[in-house]
Amino acid sequence: MLAARMHGYNQPLVLEEVPTPEIGPEEVLVKVEACGVCRTDVQLIEGYFKEALPLKFPATPGHEIAGSVEQIGSGVPKTANLATGDQVVVVGGWGDGTCRQCKAGNEQICAHGAWPGFGTYGGYGEYLPVPYKYLIRIDRKYNLPAEQLAPLTDAGLTPYRGMKKLRQAGVVGPDRVVGVIGVGGVGSYGVQYAKLLGSGATVVAFARSDEKLAIAKEYGADHIINTKGKSTADIRLELHRATGGREIDAGLDCAGAEDSIRLGFDLLATSGAYVSVGLMGTKINIPLYPFVSREFTYQGSFWGNYSDLSEVVALAQEGKVKHSLVRVPFTDINKHLEMLRDGDIVGRAVMTFAKTAEPRREKEMVA
Ligand SMILES: [Zn+2]
Repeated sequence: MLAARMHGYNQPLVLEEVPTPEIGPEEVLVKVEACGVCRTDVQLIEGYFKEALPLKFPATPGHEIAGSVEQIGSGVPKTANLATGDQVVVVGGWGDGTCRQCKAGNEQICAHGAWPGFGTYGGYGEYLPVPYKYLIRIDRKYNLPAEQLAPLTDAGLTPYRGMKKLRQAGVVGPDRVVGVIGVGGVGSYGVQYAKLLGSGATVVAFARSDEKLAIAKEYGADHIINTKGKSTADIRLELHRATGGREIDAGLDCAGAEDSIRLGFDLLATSGAYVSVGLMGTKINIPLYPFVSREFTYQGSFWGNYSDLSEVVALAQEGKVKHSLVRVPFTDINKHLEMLRDGDIVGRAVMTFAKTAEPRREKEMVA
């Protein structure tokens, strides 16, 4: 099979023919039909996770995987309801199944977990073995292309879990303002979930690119504010013009840069809640006094669990999720990782093994 693999940090991926993996009794061989190209892949290559998650080389990136069932292990129970040819998406966090987090269903935060695309096999290879319990079957009657399904497993999942946390914090509702900070691949889904789960809240998207903000607007943001080169006072003024208030009650941070988080907290209303899902930077720098005296809540939110992805898939099957996709042929993967590093991709890049020529930008409106 074909695979684009890491043979070390900070090197282009090597596109090569490698043996198709064998599966264990409780595994399913998944034929990858589309794989999201995530900024996390760039960080993986750059060694961002070197300490937390050392890699053995060669390693195959790619953790946003949609495909079909190629082969089923002898120990996979009938109750798994899987058949050869079924369309599936791969759930990202594979826990040890025994710890408290796993028992609560949050396998993506298991201390002894594994992830596809962070080891030997990943979605940048044509096939990968997946334990059967980490597959969600998609009914073919919905006619959802693999290119739309793949990013739902991370870019389209992570902000969903983040929005659920803001709901739990009790900061959404008809008289509330939800700010989505950063509207790249993740944030363009984030604004949609802010509308879907915001219980009527006004949704404001903040970003530094007009092109990205235009997508946020198209996908349901009530207001958009370009923050590039503007002071917090200027941004508050724009927010006031848009919403009648100068603060946000809830913040969903999809950028994860030190200054995006700082801005989000500068805008946060008393007893507001802020959830970080973005991971661009490495540390947080927010003023302590307002944090304490205004009783802010700050929570991290990592990827999504099986149930979260099931919910996202159900929304997609109902046609409630819109995608802005950039199709990337396998042979162009390194070029697109470069573009992603420079922030030049608008929407979500999705790689396929189809032998097509030039990539095309395609906006897909489902709904
Ligand atoms: Zn565990």
